[in-house]
Amino acid sequence: MMPVLRIQDVSKEYAGGVRALDRVNLTITPGELLAIVGPSGSGKSTLLHLMGTLDKPTSGIVELEGQDVTKLSDRRLSALRGKEIGFVFQQFHLNDGQTAADNVATGLLYAGVPRRRRRPVALEALARVGLSNRAKHLPHQLSGGERQRVAIARALVNRPALVLADEPTGALDTANGRAVLELLNELHAEGTTIAVITHDREIAAGMPRVVEIRDGRIGADRVAV
Ligand code: ADP
Repeated sequence: MMPVLRIQDVSKEYAGGVRALDRVNLTITPGELLAIVGPSGSGKSTLLHLMGTLDKPTSGIVELEGQDVTKLSDRRLSALRGKEIGFVFQQFHLNDGQTAADNVATGLLYAGVPRRRRRPVALEALARVGLSNRAKHLPHQLSGGERQRVAIARALVNRPALVLADEPTGALDTANGRAVLELLNELHAEGTTIAVITHDREIAAGMPRVVEIRDGRIGADRVAV
């Protein structure tokens, strides 16, 4: 099976000589749910940016759906990213002036979905995260957990090859955080490929695969049995 994402021998150096990633290897196959866990400063954000094709490595290969991202023009790369990757952020990043359904529909803007099809597709994505009854609510009328579910629906709406979730429970209380993790597990059971980036070892411990990062290197890569 072709990997969704293949990171091979990747290093990333910032100006000033900081080596944020040091010869990292990571392969994600379709249908996986994994956590990438490490303390602050370990290189998680840098790795997330490379996985999300928002940045390019100093050396090494990053392949998304078999395509070497370092060889694509910026235009082709943003088209590939828009189609194949769904992002979920700690702070949700919803548009305050738009309903839940419209926020989800923004995930379709660059996917070439005709305007009249966007709404039914957005409603379908809201149904997948259990929020059919909140479609017309504005973000401030929703709980934190519901807002994150809207953001997850937006990430899913395009049926991306990979969902990248950056500290998705970081802004939530324990109960809402647990509900979001349950949702990610359900989506995984339906076949969605998801990588969760977190500093929280407890969150990571509940995932089928745990990749540990420390000082820019992959320490352990364990699959639960
Ligand atoms: P994490 O997300 O795990 O906290 P980061 O990927 O943000 O880790 O950072 C890894 C290392 O790279 C740290 O030493 C950090 O200071 C450094 N770093 C991150 N971004 C930059 C940058 N834009 N310029 C220089 N150094 C950076």
